[in-house]
Amino acid sequence: MIEYENLGELNKPFVEEYKSSFEKTLNSGWYILGKNVKQFEEEFAAYNQSKYCVGVTSGLDALILSLKAFNFEKDSEVIVPSNTYIATILSILHCGLKPVLVEPDIKTYNIDPRKLEEKITSKTKAIMIVHLYGKPCEMNPILTLKEKYKLVLIEDCAQSHGAKYFGKLTGTFGEFGAFSFYPTKNLGALGDAGAVLTDDASLAKTIKRLRNYGSDVKYYNEIVGYNSRLHEMQAGFLSIKLKHLDEINNHKRKLAQIYFDNMKDDFIKPVVEENVFDVFHIFNIRHPKRDELKEYLLKNEIKTEIHYPVPPHKQKAMEGIISEAHFPISEKIHATTLSLPISFYHQEDDIYKIVEVLNKF
Ligand SMILES: *Cc1c(COP(=O)(O)O)cnc(C)c1O
Repeated sequence: MIEYENLGELNKPFVEEYKSSFEKTLNSGWYILGKNVKQFEEEFAAYNQSKYCVGVTSGLDALILSLKAFNFEKDSEVIVPSNTYIATILSILHCGLKPVLVEPDIKTYNIDPRKLEEKITSKTKAIMIVHLYGKPCEMNPILTLKEKYKLVLIEDCAQSHGAKYFGKLTGTFGEFGAFSFYPTKNLGALGDAGAVLTDDASLAKTIKRLRNYGSDVKYYNEIVGYNSRLHEMQAGFLSIKLKHLDEINNHKRKLAQIYFDNMKDDFIKPVVEENVFDVFHIFNIRHPKRDELKEYLLKNEIKTEIHYPVPPHKQKAMEGIISEAHFPISEKIHATTLSLPISFYHQEDDIYKIVEVLNKF
């Protein structure tokens, strides 16, 4: 059986380093906001050529705190792609703001900049984009709109660690880049973890306060904050994994190339564009008989996933919030997309085998 993902296998190359980091942290007796968090924040900021990184507890919190930092008036509107993972939309709702969904481009699966401007109103305060599947959004037209309407730009980079658009890393285009280090992400921890990138010293300070009860100095609270601190243990593991992020991304890109070079054209493959450095968090194809294809692959010992089976506006949780709307492009993607194995632990031979089976469908 070829698994879709196997985190135990994926983490095997790092086990010895993890163990020594665990022991070191355990013995230090300092488990919250210590040396590991500070070191990882410096390393992750440097990796991304960003000025500041603030570690938080999850990707969802990275998004929520990014929005909270601006104190937008209640019911202000935030533009967001209609085909994202639910977390992006939840972050907007948890801040008392209104998500305004914009359809993706059917070729890139990322927010369609040509459909964005018509959704901007006097209430629009921010654009929250998502570099879905590891492919950077079309940034130039988005940045033009950001400037024209003076909007805040927050990038959901939960799937795009190390991805680049014209050489510039995702997470560095707007006010904030929000990252998740959920274990399956390209840079994954051994539990929940996240971070925010920014070049603005005062915004970085606000996130630091928000994540730690609104406090700079222990027992003195400046603003109404949260507990969303990156765990010291996870920060230690993340520093180890970060040294291998380029290797992980390049491995995934190499596996993607095998799919591109050998798969029949019956399947709709991801687009490849010049100047877009895709890190293939997910390698998705589309096919009108997606469910049949998934079943066929499983019968042939290949496990796949669907990202995502239900679009956000069709989720029960969104009833009465966004359920009235109709998003045909999202619905088409959700009905036809299939994610193929592309983990750091998969070997080239696994992918050749998958392609061989696929091409007989
Ligand atoms: C994983 C993910 C998140 C949420 O990250 P958590 O760490 O699980 O909170 C947000 N947005 C996208 C696009 C994701 O893939």
